[in-house]
Amino acid sequence: MGAVFSQNRLLTDPNEFANSSYDYVIVGGGTAGCVLASRLSEDPHTKVLLVEAGGSHQSELFAKIPVAAAQLLRTSKDWGYSTVPQPALNNREVYYARGKLLGGSGSINALVYQHCSPSDYDEWEKKGATGWGYRDLAPYFRKSEKFTPHPLYPGVKPEDRGDSGLWHTSYGYAHPICDNFIESAKELGIPHNPDINTPRGSIGATKFMTYVDSKGQRSSTATAYLPKEVLARKNLTIAIDTITTKVLFSSDRRPRAIGVEVAQNETSPRFQVAARKEVILAAGAVNTPQLLLLSGIGPQADLEDLNIPLVKDLPMVGNNLHDHPLVPIICRAKSGTTLDYMADPLKAVPVLLQWFLTGTGPATSNGGEAALFVRSDDPSLPFTSNGLKLEPLVDNTSGPDSPDIEIGAAPAGYRPLPRGSNGLTLIPILTRPMSVGRLCLASSSPFDKPKIDPNFLAHPNDMKMMVRAVRLSLRLARSSALAPMLELKPDSEDTTDLFWPGDADPDRITDGELEDWIRINMETTNHCAGTARIGTDETDGVVDPELKVFGIDGLRVVDASIFPTMVSGHPTAPVVAIAEKASDLILLQ
Ligand SMILES: Cc1cc2nc3c(=O)[nH]c(=O)nc-3n(C[C@H](O)[C@H](O)[C@H](O)COP(=O)(O)OP(=O)(O)OC[C@H]3O[C@@H](n4cnc5c(N)ncnc54)[C@H](O)[C@@H]3O)c2cc1C
Repeated sequence: MGAVFSQNRLLTDPNEFANSSYDYVIVGGGTAGCVLASRLSEDPHTKVLLVEAGGSHQSELFAKIPVAAAQLLRTSKDWGYSTVPQPALNNREVYYARGKLLGGSGSINALVYQHCSPSDYDEWEKKGATGWGYRDLAPYFRKSEKFTPHPLYPGVKPEDRGDSGLWHTSYGYAHPICDNFIESAKELGIPHNPDINTPRGSIGATKFMTYVDSKGQRSSTATAYLPKEVLARKNLTIAIDTITTKVLFSSDRRPRAIGVEVAQNETSPRFQVAARKEVILAAGAVNTPQLLLLSGIGPQADLEDLNIPLVKDLPMVGNNLHDHPLVPIICRAKSGTTLDYMADPLKAVPVLLQWFLTGTGPATSNGGEAALFVRSDDPSLPFTSNGLKLEPLVDNTSGPDSPDIEIGAAPAGYRPLPRGSNGLTLIPILTRPMSVGRLCLASSSPFDKPKIDPNFLAHPNDMKMMVRAVRLSLRLARSSALAPMLELKPDSEDTTDLFWPGDADPDRITDGELEDWIRINMETTNHCAGTARIGTDETDGVVDPELKVFGIDGLRVVDASIFPTMVSGHPTAPVVAIAEKASDLILLQ
């Protein structure tokens, strides 16, 4: 089979790239996949194919304008999944976004750049992920980053940041109310942390660093790692709008991945692509385990139930699904104190014009502009009502300097507000929940959605911690720094109101009332991970520390699926660092 080369073209017709062979076939042109495609094709003698199910990011304006990312949710650029009914959430199915375009979820997400806690990675290493401790990943965080200092953020030390990587980081617009949020945190005893991305960790309150470039545009791994010069490489072929339907194996006693099967859609013909060295799955924490299962790698009984021929019994495929639950508290804000005016198209036009002309202004906001990170066992914080003593909760953090609660601040209503209303949304997030879920197939068709079960709040510790986080959020809203910007009622019992529990008195509201409200309103941060985790052997993991699938030759996984446990923050930067390190590992073979 002769290779077909492309020049600066994204191919959609399988006749142009399939029935051909490559050294590496990368499945999924998302956050990790774009890094891999770029790095592995640096050597012109190495032929690489990247297969992406979605389209190009290049023509997607909303993937460029930071504040507009949410416009891509529930469109063709989003896989548009939902969870299975969640028992702890009144059997609700929770909407589960996943990016479906080059750059993947990193092209539609909220641009928060976070290294998370150093101890998160040291925990990975302790659990058997040799070579994935903080000291191993820190050089790759630095290698990937190109930080542009910002005059409004003098507390960020250039020596803590990478300055020669491909991926742009800096600061976009932050609404002045975020300063009030930081002050409100300080009032409660939570220190300002000007840069949460250092070995000192993320505890404290901060305005988020984002992946925004000097033109005020989103820097995804698609824009950063696949610029024109890389797309023009003769040894790199990129297929878009192409679904990988399964991995193909040799019939050896120990199976070897020899390529993949692809299709344009459910009814189109299937094509085969050969991989001479490796198939690398980078389809994300939902679709990577889905593909492994469709290909016959996973729990034997599940595969037999669906009549999928078994290639390898690997019980952990799809298990260990971790995510970060959140619940948005919309606090009624005074007119002019938030970005809600942008919901009015007439008022949005000047904002967009400013962005088009100068690359600055509110359009460069990432929406969730600030946050604080704390520990739920911090005795100095007012987590309880009326100064009651803290009930001990299980400490599930990776270390004493690692948070288990994040409270984000978004200067707008998280949900559509009544016309003319304004909202400051405080967003409590559990960064280290104890509930762990599972993903499995609904059928043997690659075109059917898998069953995603994050098992939200199944562990009682998680609900208790979320109640704690919500009550702390209510106290932030009533601090002297934030309250003047808001129009809170002294106390409200109307639990159906959009602005409840923002309007409730944190000392009068009961845990039971908060629990009921959380069950109705909880959502996901869309941080799913861990479904093909690194393990010491095939009973507790899917891949070994070199990210090779246990028992199979020529098959690796490189994406958020490999997290052994959950990071205590936003996972894109860890995924990029993992992909950088994995590229080195692969090229060293
Ligand atoms: C709405 C939203 C907001 C978020 N906000 C943040 C944030 O602010 N900060 C942060 O750090 N993280 C955030 N995240 C999480 C973060 O984006 C993900 O954890 C990260 O991008 C995962 O990277 P990945 O490479 O594992 O998967 P992805 O980036 O999702 O890439 C997977 C790619 O594989 C493709 N694919 C899947 N199946 C197939 C197939 N069968 N054939 C071919 N291609 C396939 C997909 O289309 C996709 O492009 C957010 C996520 C979402 C959805």
